[in-house]
Amino acid sequence: SQKRFTGARTVLLGASGVGKTAFAVRYITKRFIGDYDRDKEMVYTRQLPTPRDEITLDILDTGARLTSETIEKHTKWGDGYILIYSLTDRASLIYLSEVKDIITKVKGRDCPLTLVGNKSDLISAREVNDEESCDFGQKFDCPKFEISVAETSQGVLEVMDEIMCQIKRDFVN
Ligand code: GDP
Repeated sequence: SQKRFTGARTVLLGASGVGKTAFAVRYITKRFIGDYDRDKEMVYTRQLPTPRDEITLDILDTGARLTSETIEKHTKWGDGYILIYSLTDRASLIYLSEVKDIITKVKGRDCPLTLVGNKSDLISAREVNDEESCDFGQKFDCPKFEISVAETSQGVLEVMDEIMCQIKRDFVN
């Protein structure tokens, strides 16, 4: 399609407690606050300047208690998806398979997607090794990142750049 690129909707999906709210808050404020009302579903909005005008970037922090129905609804709303898990919680990585299946069902195989392992600062509590995260990256056929939202903004910015690039590509094609 020749739709002009004026905005993008990014959806954060993952198990409870992996750092979705911390990720969104870090992106918007450049800060890590530490304690969040994580049950709430909320859209964060940022205007990004471009050479010609600006684009609107929406980030949906999906609330607790995701069900197949809510994941499907969020998937339809969004243009791109950040699948996030905690490196200290192997089950949160396994869980993403279910989420990915729903996205594939709704949007097809080829849609803007990244896989993000958070809490890389908690080295001694780590439950996911490199091999396993690579396997999932390959299975999902998307770029993967390891970040610490607590330590720095850098990883969050890289993830957002990547997903924006993928979404833009979708608009041009
Ligand atoms: P959500 O349920 O996915 O939205 O998760 P939250 O953003 O509420 O984060 C859950 C808990 O993990 C909170 O206590 C955060 O402070 C903590 N947390 C989030 N990101 C990190 C991180 O990178 N490192 C560490 N050590 N803790 C984190």
